[in-house]
This record gives sequence, structure tokens and C-alpha cells, in this order.
Amino acid sequence: MRDFVLDQPGGRVVFGAGSLDAVPGEVRALGAERVMLVGDRHSRTIADTIAARLPGQVVARIGHTATHVPEDLAADAVRLARESGADLLVCVGGGSATGLAKAVALSTRLRILAVPTTYAGSEMTPIWGLTGDGRKRTGRDPAVRPVCVVYDPVLTLGLPPALSAASGMNAMAHLVEAVYAPKVSPLTVTAAVEGAGALARALPGVVRDPADLAARDEALYGAWLAGWVLGTTTTGIHHKVCHVLGGRYGLPHAATHSAVLPYATAHNREAAGPSLAPLARALGAEDAAAGLWDLAVSVGAPTSLAAVGMKERDLDEAAALVVAERPVNPRAVDVAGVLDLLRAAYAGARPSQESNEVTP
Ligand code: NAD
Repeated sequence: MRDFVLDQPGGRVVFGAGSLDAVPGEVRALGAERVMLVGDRHSRTIADTIAARLPGQVVARIGHTATHVPEDLAADAVRLARESGADLLVCVGGGSATGLAKAVALSTRLRILAVPTTYAGSEMTPIWGLTGDGRKRTGRDPAVRPVCVVYDPVLTLGLPPALSAASGMNAMAHLVEAVYAPKVSPLTVTAAVEGAGALARALPGVVRDPADLAARDEALYGAWLAGWVLGTTTTGIHHKVCHVLGGRYGLPHAATHSAVLPYATAHNREAAGPSLAPLARALGAEDAAAGLWDLAVSVGAPTSLAAVGMKERDLDEAAALVVAERPVNPRAVDVAGVLDLLRAAYAGARPSQESNEVTP
């Protein structure tokens, strides 16, 4: 018997090598005439290219971002959007650039056209995040979901191997938590398994040769599916742990996802039951948790919280903060269980392998 909820995303997606060329036409199709460009430092030349192809239409520009969208940065960006009379936000860069544009959209209701350059996936979701006083707040609002997303794998060629690997594992986290989300739709599960296979195939090639456009194309395809999946369902303890660790201790976003994911998956192994089996198969593994650890190690992504800057003395506080956020998760969430998860992630050893297949 089927029983599911699907938050159906409505945005337009343009995917393909060279699709940056489509941005001016997409801006016109949206009827926009006054564009505010929001980019990170890395994407300055891409933003320059877009500005050159929209002569006289770029009325404001932001060229720096910060992870987890600090509230003061967001307030400045909102002010600039209002003063410039912008009628469309075009964001170019990683999840931090998309996040800053979303913060502006949250206050101004301006639409967003997104051009992502990492595998974070924010461009496909209605989720916004803001950080202030050491705490990250998140919420969902359909107004912040980009109305158009242009995916061009050429723009990811410069993403260094270490960032590519960690960002790929960040995308993988969206896929893993989708398969065991409550009332997940069959369409979402299918997309999640497809995305996990694409990322598992692509990331080793991306890291071996960052200029391999076919591998970049496959990785960005997996990242698109991961963002789509994240936008259609909910997340569990893994995302809540990363959210607390990023907001409270300033740990790097994608690397933290990579370090926590195998242990959050192992933590949920029994409660998630057979839902992890197709994902394990997509990873070419018998057990999803062990397969994720193996993939992370093979691409040089972090598998330990100690390696991404977490202090052992903060683990108890972090466990209490995660429980206070009341994540919805297949396994009941309590301080002892979260502390076990955090200690395992801190140590970074390979999760013991158990099969995710159900024995008939
Ligand atoms: P990021 O945007 O901070 O980028 C990391 C670094 O990579 C930056 O220095 C950036 O300039 C650089 N960079 C980006 N693209 C590059 C490229 N192609 N080549 C070289 N360098 C490049 O990090 P991220 O991991 O992309 O995003 C993390 C942020 O996104 C976090 O704040 C997280 O909370 C948010 N996020 C939000 C959602 C959502 O649905 N709201 C989903 C995923 C992530």
C-alpha cells in the first residue's frame, strides 16, 4: 500500500556543457530587466561574463559570500536589492552564494535564477538558512526556491579535488536521508538511487582528473538529483548534526557532511530497515554505511570529525544541542545515541559492515 507526500518542485532546469550561454535568454524569458548578481569570489569571472551579456541590465552586484549566511551580510544584501530596484536575483557560485540570494528573496520576494558551481544542491530547494549568535536557523519557503537553474558542468572544472569530493559527499547526504524519510514518494526514492549511482561513478574520476568533463557532467547530474530530492522531502539526524556543528562550531559545511554521513547511516541502519538496500546497491556495496565510508576514503573526502576541526570536548554539548532540535528520524533520537554517533564520527573508523538486504 502506498502512503507518501511529494512536495512537487516547479522550477525550470537547463542542464548541459556550455549552458551558461542560456542565461541571458532565461533572464529575458522571466521578463526581468533589472538584475542583481550575487556571487562568491571564485565566480567573479563567470559573473563578469553574465554581466557582459546583459548590457545595462545589471543594477547591483555582490562579489563575496560567507558560509551559512551571516545575518549582517544578508541584511546588507537585502538593502542593496531594495535600493537598486532589482527585479531578479541571479546567483552564481556554491551553496553560500545561493544561500545569500535566498536570504534576499526571503525578505524581498524577488525571484532567483541560479547558476551553481558546486554540488551543494541548495539551488533546487525551498530551504533557507541564516546564522547569528552562533546559531543557524533554517526554514522552508517556496519563494526562495530558484525559478530557473542553469547547470553547466564546464563551470565546475575549477573546483579543486578536495572540495569536489567533500561537496559530492554533501550531495550524497541528501540522497541517503531521502530514502528513509517518512512518507517519501517512490519518485524521490528512484531519483535518490539514480543520484547515488551517478555520484559514486563520477567522483573517483573527478578527483583523478578534475578537468574530465564527462565525469564532471555525471557528478553535476548526481548533484542535481540530490538537490531535487532534498527539495521534495525531509531530512533526518544527519542533516541536523551537520547543521548544529556548522552553526555552533563553525565547521566547514561540505567536509562535515562527509565526516558524519557514514556514521549517521550506520546509526539508522536497523531503524531504516530495507530502505537503504537499493542505495547500498547503487554504491556497489553490501552495506550503505560501509560503502559511503569506502567512497569517501577513495576520493580523499574526510571521514572523521577530528580531521575537520571538531574538538572532542564539545561532543557532549553538541549531542544535547542536536536532541534539542528534535530531528525527525527513523531511529528515536536521544542524547546517548547521538553521542555514540558523534564519537564514532570523531574517531573516523570504518563502520562495521552489515548487510542492508532483507533475508527472505
Ligand atoms: P561554498 O558555497 O561556501 O563554496 C566553498 C568554496 O568553494 C568557496 O570558497 C567558493 O568560492 C568556492 N567555489 C565554489 N565553486 C567553485 C568552483 N567551481 N571552482 C573553485 N572554487 C569554487 O560551499 P558549498 O559547499 O557549495 O555550500 C555550502 C553552503 O550551502 C552552506 O551554507 C550550506 O548550509 C548551504 N546549503 C544549503 C542547502 C539548502 O537547501 N538550503 C543545501 C545545501 C547546502
